[in-house]
Amino acid sequence: MKPKRDVNFKAPANQNEIPFGAAFPAGHLTATNAGYRTFAPQIDYDKCIRCLFCFVYCPEGAICKDDVDAKGREGKLTIDMDYCKGCGVCAHECPKKCISMVKEG
Ligand code: SF4
Ligand code: SF4
Repeated sequence: MKPKRDVNFKAPANQNEIPFGAAFPAGHLTATNAGYRTFAPQIDYDKCIRCLFCFVYCPEGAICKDDVDAKGREGKLTIDMDYCKGCGVCAHECPKKCISMVKEG
């Protein structure tokens, strides 16, 4: 059985139809995970309790945290999308279920 395609791909007829910015500098894709992911994690900061489970469990070390603030609270978490491979471990481990895996375009 033929696999079902999500997108109807139309081969570009000429150079002008190739999307601008669809390429990276040489070596970028092997040095980072850019272009590899199908799903990307998104953190709901309103629900996040800064327990850092996602930070500890991420196999790529792609989750970064800012330094503690003046009141001793952990800073906001950010995900470095150049290194996130979209595995979903962070979303699975989050005790508050505030990380959603969103399909990339
Ligand atoms: S999806 Fe995987 S690689 Fe990306 S931040 Fe979460 S645990 Fe890390
Ligand atoms: S595991 Fe969930 S609640 Fe804990 S810091 Fe990460 S996003 Fe926030």
